Amino acid sequence: MANNYNHTLTWSTTRITVLEYCNKKYYFNYYPHSLRSLNEEVWLTALLLKNLKSTDMRVGEKTHHLLSDYLRALKKWPQDAEAIQAHKDRVINEMRTEFEISKTRDYTAYDRDRKFWLSEHYYGENIDDKLEEAIQKVVHNLDVFLESDRNQKVQHYFTTAKTVYVENPREKDFEGMKLNLYTIPELRAVNVMAAPDFGVVISDNKYLIIDRKTGQEKMDSDWVSEQLKIYALKMLLKSNIKIENVEIEAYEVYLPSLHQIGGKIEKADIDHIVEKLKEDVEYQKQFLEDGDIIKNQPLAPSHFARTNSAKKCASCTFRKVCEDLKAFE
Ligand code: SF4
Repeated sequence: MANNYNHTLTWSTTRITVLEYCNKKYYFNYYPHSLRSLNEEVWLTALLLKNLKSTDMRVGEKTHHLLSDYLRALKKWPQDAEAIQAHKDRVINEMRTEFEISKTRDYTAYDRDRKFWLSEHYYGENIDDKLEEAIQKVVHNLDVFLESDRNQKVQHYFTTAKTVYVENPREKDFEGMKLNLYTIPELRAVNVMAAPDFGVVISDNKYLIIDRKTGQEKMDSDWVSEQLKIYALKMLLKSNIKIENVEIEAYEVYLPSLHQIGGKIEKADIDHIVEKLKEDVEYQKQFLEDGDIIKNQPLAPSHFARTNSAKKCASCTFRKVCEDLKAFE
């Protein structure tokens, strides 16, 4: 039975990472609307900044789009050089167009219908020389994948596996991202969201999960991230099976190195992630009025501490509103 608590507290790997990174950033990201009653201008600035992304973040996002476009098309029919170039051209055109829009945009007001912005442009930096470099990185990420044996393996799965799932990051399926945690009382009312980039049901009791990354690589090859454990938990819940009865392998694959980190998911991994979810939810509850996860109303912004790291603030997209808010706290 799925839960129906659509406006209640949400947990996701990104969300808990932001909370641990800086409490205030978490507030701006997930509760900007509660600033409305405090000050209209601060509220609108927070909404505007929430939609900013740095060029590096866009490279990661566009890499996901391009690989997903290619894999979803490949699932239907073989992709020749012309078809691959068409996927690349689509993303290259998007990046050029979006860059121009961002560069020439009026940054003095929040526009709910036109949300695309690059944070560097908002903060007045000239990044004209970064666009082509960013495009080349995205295209290169696809090229290394195409030239690797992973490309062959994927085609093999498409023809032999029971089911292959390829995420479509262009159209997020939020309902499909939810985990059904109805059997765990502490988590029943929480929206836990997770969706890997690529999942394969090789046979009835054999699963493979792949998540692609473009950020900084972790060094320990056997380490299984919490994100991978969540994906595995989701597969178990969805299929209504126990970890003892299946074999799940899960990996993070870094681009462009194609270095992979992960391995077999054990029962201890699943037990650990369920406990971690409970702990994280307790932590998130501390920032809610009456600790009420159903109402999900945040405490006043002053309860959300600022990080002490000047380095984190220097690259934070919320730094303008974070400063503005000080006058009201
Ligand atoms: S500017 Fe610094 S303190 Fe403010 S939200 Fe960003 S990281 Fe947190």
